[in-house]
Amino acid sequence: MDYIDLHTHSTASDGTFAPAEVFALAAELRLSAVALTDHDTVAGLEEFLAAAKDHPECEAVPGVELACMLYMREIHILGLFINCRSAVLTEFLEKCRIERAKRNRDIFLKLHFLGYDLDLSMPEFGGKELDAIGRPHFARALRAHYDGFTTSQMVFDKLLGHNRPAWVPRKLPSPAEAIAAIHAAGGVAVWAHPVSRDTTERAYLTRACRKLAAQGLDGIEAYYSLFSANETALVTEAAARYGLALSGGSDFHGENSANVVLGFGAGGLRVPEQLLYGLKEKLIQRRTEA
Ligand code: AMP
Ligand code: MN
Ligand code: MN
Ligand code: MN
Repeated sequence: MDYIDLHTHSTASDGTFAPAEVFALAAELRLSAVALTDHDTVAGLEEFLAAAKDHPECEAVPGVELACMLYMREIHILGLFINCRSAVLTEFLEKCRIERAKRNRDIFLKLHFLGYDLDLSMPEFGGKELDAIGRPHFARALRAHYDGFTTSQMVFDKLLGHNRPAWVPRKLPSPAEAIAAIHAAGGVAVWAHPVSRDTTERAYLTRACRKLAAQGLDGIEAYYSLFSANETALVTEAAARYGLALSGGSDFHGENSANVVLGFGAGGLRVPEQLLYGLKEKLIQRRTEA
């Protein structure tokens, strides 16, 4: 059986592997497809697709991960098979990055008042702009410059996580806007990690699936690094009920989530290649409707 990984991050957002390195690793692991899905940016896609040129055995899927707000919770929607030059998507991402920059500026301020002085020129921020960094960069910088943080998770639990002292909310678009931007870019929209972290309840899953399916959601991530077999079964059942295609990926971030391996997740993850065909069927439906 062949396997794929449709959820990964590179140095274009909060991963530690360059886009070309993500592709090279996927090819080395003999995955038959890999998607690059950086947060709020398509900046890594050109390099990613170029790296795939001489590797027909491994399909490179251009993607993006968009954060949105639904029923008072942050959820993430992946765009897969997107055209990264789409004007509508470009404008949408520009707005996301403006809000991200504002949020990041406030995180620096909050940390300062808490006694942690960080600045963007520190090497842990990778020479990136204020609108391109994420909380994992803050976690790295705090670990490097202050004692007492052995893991990134510890920094999130103590400072950066939801409602912790350095938590700053970010103005997020609605899922309808995110889905529309993905469709305008010729892609399919997939709800990422629908039952991980804050969103573990079955009731939320059902309610959100109904709403998102009505708004044009195409797929849902049923295979994910943090999912148990029960969670995969729960999501698969919801997908069948709402006519959604299944997707799956590791959410690879390189050293920023050291326990997650490309294609294998935290150990037991294997995403069957067949899922790609279901997503491509959705893609063909979308493109013939358009
Ligand atoms: P941001 O997009 O800047 O708000 O940062 C969110 C990112 O931080 C996610 O994409 C994950 O990579 C990471 N993250 C979120 N929550 C945690 C957590 N509890 N522990 C470790 N990493 C996390
Ligand atoms: Mn991330
Ligand atoms: Mn996510
Ligand atoms: Mn992700």
